[in-house]
Order: sequence, then C-alpha cells, then structure tokens
Amino acid sequence: MSHAWAAGSTRQWRRLRRAVLDRDRWICQLCHKPIDPTRRNPDPMSAQVHHVQGKAYGDDPAHLQAAHRLCNQKAGDPTRAPDPAPRPMTRW
Ligand SMILES: [Zn+2]
Repeated sequence: MSHAWAAGSTRQWRRLRRAVLDRDRWICQLCHKPIDPTRRNPDPMSAQVHHVQGKAYGDDPAHLQAAHRLCNQKAGDPTRAPDPAPRPMTRW
C-alpha cells in the first residue's frame, strides 16, 4: 500500500492533523460524536483525519476533516480504484 501522500514531512503532517482536529473541535465529522484525544491508534475510536475527496487531492485542510478511525475506515477513500474484476481461472 502506498503512503506517498504522507512522505516528506511527518512533522508537518502531524501539525496539520492537529490543526484539523482543533478546527473541528474533536468532533467526528462522519458520525458527529466527540473524539477522545486520549485514545491512540489502533483504538477504533481514536482520532484520525479523513480525506474528504480522497488522498489523491493532497493535504489541503479544506479537504480534511476530523473523524474516528473506525468512521474513517468505513468511509474509505473515494479516489481508491475499485477492486479489479475477478479473472476467469485458467484451466489446464
Ligand atoms: Zn465517528
């Protein structure tokens, strides 16, 4: 799995992530319930930043919103390519 979007400055990303969470007042923008800042990854209710338009749009805060890890996972990434159609098995 590619994480090219996170490459470069992790420090900058952490700062951006924090800014997005503060802007959204630690309210999950997907289920509209508060996010507990003391919870940590991989806790499903820990804070994550959701890429509204998909990660391909980059890290513009306008396209980012606070979300629970679980909610973010459910939402997925809209820019992610759909799974390829299953290929017929080659019979020998
Ligand atoms: Zn949520």
